[in-house]
Amino acid sequence: MTFEALGLAPTLQTRLTELGYHTPTEIQTLAIPVVLAGQDLLASAQTGTGKTASYALPVIQRLLSSPAVRANQAKALILVPTRELAVQVADSLKSYATHSRLRVQAVFGGVKINPQMQALRSGCDILVATPGRLLDLFRSNAIGFKQLQILVLDEADRMLDLGFLPEVKSVLRLLPGKRQSLMLSATFSDDIRQLASSLLSAPQEVSV
Ligand code: AMP
Repeated sequence: MTFEALGLAPTLQTRLTELGYHTPTEIQTLAIPVVLAGQDLLASAQTGTGKTASYALPVIQRLLSSPAVRANQAKALILVPTRELAVQVADSLKSYATHSRLRVQAVFGGVKINPQMQALRSGCDILVATPGRLLDLFRSNAIGFKQLQILVLDEADRMLDLGFLPEVKSVLRLLPGKRQSLMLSATFSDDIRQLASSLLSAPQEVSV
């Protein structure tokens, strides 16, 4: 399998070659075409399988063709449970999006909010966020979701383990109903299934 055969755009293929990614991993082979087609996705994948790129690459590609909007209106939101994962996912997105004009920002709790507010005002297309800090920033008008097209919930099982379900539900209430939603989890409990059914619409399920 090749990234080209999965439907990835030439600019992204070029970037992946620069990064030394020659072959898509199994989760990437399964997930990328689903996301590019605009469908909702429920993916079971562990860290280390290449799961981040399995959503990051097609999310970037779907936004490449979307028109520029107001600076602090995110087009894609990636919710993650921890600060470490927020930084890591944002770094991956920034790296994959190097040859585009898309702006990626990460926000998370445990640090001062003001620098994050300023960064968001400078422009944000793809926002990677932990739920609590995201709600604080939304309430301060530092970020808006009127133009949101894609939501990703990464490591959903850890999100629930850390007790973030109420915050996740509050975030969902802020988002447009008409959107593409992706959810990734290493494990699938009844709680995860329930969250998936409230979040996703006719999802394609993939597991590796
Ligand atoms: P993840 O499972 O998202 O944490 O990714 C694990 C590691 O694999 C990261 O360091 C990625 O940069 C790397 N990676 C992801 N996809 C590929 C690929 N297709 N080829 C080579 N490395 C990859």
